[in-house]
Amino acid sequence: MNDMLSARGGGMEAKMVKRNVLLNPGPATTTDTVKMAQVVPDICPREKEFISIMREVEEGLLKIVHADPEEYAAVLFCGSGTINMDICLNSLLPADKKILIINNGAYSSRGAEICEYYGLPYVNLKLPLDKQPDLALIEQTLQENPDIALVYTTHHETGTGLLNPIREIGALVHRYEGVFVVDTTSTYAMRPIHIAADEVDFCMASAQKGIMAMTGLSFIIGKKSIIEASADYPKRSYYCNLYMQYEYAKAHGEMHFTPPVQVIYSVRQALEEYFAEGEENKWARHCRVFQAIRAGLTELGFKIYISEDQESKLVAAALYPDDANWDFEKIHDYCYERGFTIYPGKVEKLGMFRLCALGAIDRKDIEDFFMVFREALQKYGVAVPVKYSDRS
Ligand SMILES: *Cc1c(COP(=O)(O)O)cnc(C)c1O
Repeated sequence: MNDMLSARGGGMEAKMVKRNVLLNPGPATTTDTVKMAQVVPDICPREKEFISIMREVEEGLLKIVHADPEEYAAVLFCGSGTINMDICLNSLLPADKKILIINNGAYSSRGAEICEYYGLPYVNLKLPLDKQPDLALIEQTLQENPDIALVYTTHHETGTGLLNPIREIGALVHRYEGVFVVDTTSTYAMRPIHIAADEVDFCMASAQKGIMAMTGLSFIIGKKSIIEASADYPKRSYYCNLYMQYEYAKAHGEMHFTPPVQVIYSVRQALEEYFAEGEENKWARHCRVFQAIRAGLTELGFKIYISEDQESKLVAAALYPDDANWDFEKIHDYCYERGFTIYPGKVEKLGMFRLCALGAIDRKDIEDFFMVFREALQKYGVAVPVKYSDRS
């Protein structure tokens, strides 16, 4: 009897899980049903039962971006979202060719850093961080560098909230016969994406963002013909090679190495909830959450870094006020203790914090947040509406 108990771990009562509202840019607030979906009988991932779940998940992931399964594959990896960036950049560059990084934020800069680490030849097209890129400049770069084979950018620069016009950039890339890789980690399953119409060859995300599941699974969705062509490209990583993983999944229906088993159960549940809510309804919900964020910040006098016509409607980066009493850590801690998480910004030398519209939250959560946030400002003596000295 005692042996039995210790093998089961003891303490089996169902636990109530406290609900936190995460306004950081992922992991996102999840539903209880997604949390609980991870609690399943132990299973070896080589079992047919598990392999059929993998297939279901791959199909759902393709469907989210309207990808034709004849033409596109979803390739799964165990890791956080950055693994996708690493894999696409190191796997999809033919010998003697170059990458173009369209760089207007922290995530594209990370792409450039990956090129540095692998010693890949690349052009780092650094552009202003607070506005959409000048397409003529991108075209000029493609013209001047006919050996560019792969163009990489970020759909939504999560550090600031800037949205990049991927369809227009993609059309340009394809006119110059390049492969277009887009980091869609912070838009996938939120802003509707139509992979073919949006001129995207490869997109990517991780389970803890748009689909609102757990951390540990990432996935790349891309053109099979290009992945197959990459079989002959230089191999630059063993664990992080796109073709190897694709080929293995095609042959065996599973990931090459141990998958994050329980996370995949949470993903299956999250996909079910995604399709039940529906693409349009979910995007409408993110938009109303974002509008509540924008309205709340504006009412308190905060300046938002990205203008309304260039923003993703998923992340608002608010500039720190010029007030000696403003202390992000203290305000953060006050909110955190009351179940709300806010997050610092990501632009060097500019003090800002972010509020994000990801996750299983709605307008009411934002209204509740602003009551707490306003209390925090009051408690620490930050003047409301907040003040800015002349620096605009
Ligand atoms: C979250 C995110 C990533 C991945 O970051 P991880 O910390 O590795 O999960 C990549 N790109 C963008 C745009 C993101 O928002």
